[in-house]
Amino acid sequence: MLNASLRQLSLLLSEKKISSTELTHEFLTRIKVLNPDLNAFITTDEEKSLNQARLADEMIATGRSTPLTGIPVAQKDIFCATGWLTTCGSKMLSNFVSPYDATVVARLDRAGMVNLGKTNMDEFAMGSSNETSHYGPVKNPWDRRAVPGGSSGGSACAVAARLAPAATGSDTGGSIRQPAALCGISGIKPTYGLVSRYGMIAFASSLDQGGPMAKSAEDLSILLNAMVGFDERDSTSLQREKEDYTRDLEKPAGGLRIGLPREFFAEGMSSDVSSAVDAALAEYRKLGATFVEVSLPNSRLAVPVYYVLAPAEASSNLSRFDGVRYGYRAAQYDNLEELYAKTRAEGFGEEVKRRILIGTYVLSHGYYDAYYLQAQKLRRLIAEDFTKAFEQCDLIMGPTSPTVAFNIGEKCGDPIQMYLSDIYTSAASLAGLPGMSIPIGFGNQNRPVGLHIIGNYFREAHMLNVAHRYQQVTDWHKLTPPESGN
Ligand code: GLN
Repeated sequence: MLNASLRQLSLLLSEKKISSTELTHEFLTRIKVLNPDLNAFITTDEEKSLNQARLADEMIATGRSTPLTGIPVAQKDIFCATGWLTTCGSKMLSNFVSPYDATVVARLDRAGMVNLGKTNMDEFAMGSSNETSHYGPVKNPWDRRAVPGGSSGGSACAVAARLAPAATGSDTGGSIRQPAALCGISGIKPTYGLVSRYGMIAFASSLDQGGPMAKSAEDLSILLNAMVGFDERDSTSLQREKEDYTRDLEKPAGGLRIGLPREFFAEGMSSDVSSAVDAALAEYRKLGATFVEVSLPNSRLAVPVYYVLAPAEASSNLSRFDGVRYGYRAAQYDNLEELYAKTRAEGFGEEVKRRILIGTYVLSHGYYDAYYLQAQKLRRLIAEDFTKAFEQCDLIMGPTSPTVAFNIGEKCGDPIQMYLSDIYTSAASLAGLPGMSIPIGFGNQNRPVGLHIIGNYFREAHMLNVAHRYQQVTDWHKLTPPESGN
């Protein structure tokens, strides 16, 4: 049951071999046993989950089910969910019970999925290791000394440790793909604008994009079908005809032209990651793919550009947390100014404060032209590199992360080293392109390695097809971490 695909679960449910209540119960029990050590969930609420499961069982009994009805899902704590504590990993929202649903949550609810709980994450999604969470670090189920990646570390851990069959994540500069890679699962960040940002707590609005995390590409395609869609409450939501992301899964991969960016296969990638990537590419060659070297000359600037633009937007988005309307409020203050200052000083963690300072600085008069405006221009050049590359190839492949998961505490004291975890993922985010990661083996200390697949805009169905073909001839996505940890 724990290793079943979403299709298999759906079949078991519709054939009444198991009820959603039983299935939900099984995962909740597993969470109770394993979560105290793994720390993947910030909040669970058995009663709420089981109530939803009962409703799902009714939907099934009355023939109103969708392919996802009755299947439990873990929600990243960045998504508002009615009546659920929604903390975004921060002390600032440690008392915030959402009065409304994010569109992603509402859509999965409507499909009949059961919310298993809210997963741990880096504070306000700022981080690559889940260590900035107010709720403490999450452990990597493959090696509990290691980080799960971030910021969707709780969701990645939950899926990898089989605490949930699927989870939601959000990706601003790599936060779905990098933790998916580090935890040995599959994750996709769709084209910017496909999944509604309504009710997804804002970090950097021009980059933030929600997406699914699951065991396989097939599972991702089923989840994406329910998550994608126009939403008038998100001003950057795209109005497009509805697609079935499962439609191309079985297409053969022959004739596929894979672009390998020179810049991604240069120094920086550790040798264990490089061997796993080479082996995965060899598998694609067997499937009939050909390779072409492409160049993304401006991608070397992606990390610095990202770390100007994302903090700039964050400094603006996070100005709403002032202790007045909701969330944390300092206990003692003498005037309004002090209420703001103390609330923010006490409510935000160190990394969030660092981003607010950087963001305020690059937007300030006198520095705006030198940093913010310059970064915007470079963002355009980074996107244009991809446009050129896609004239020569159908998809781009490379490593998702330069190394396998590092140890908890290893990079905490060095923000620059931490920021470099996004070296391969941030360029696609800046360009608004879809990107995904799939497990392709293990590197040093038997920690998972992910393959990064970047597609042109709206090529999700094709990317999922290409990932699925690989998963039909390999078993990496089926492997489960040792139960006891290391
Ligand atoms: N690690 C990156 C950061 O800290 C990306 C985070 C994300 O995608 N939410 O900003």
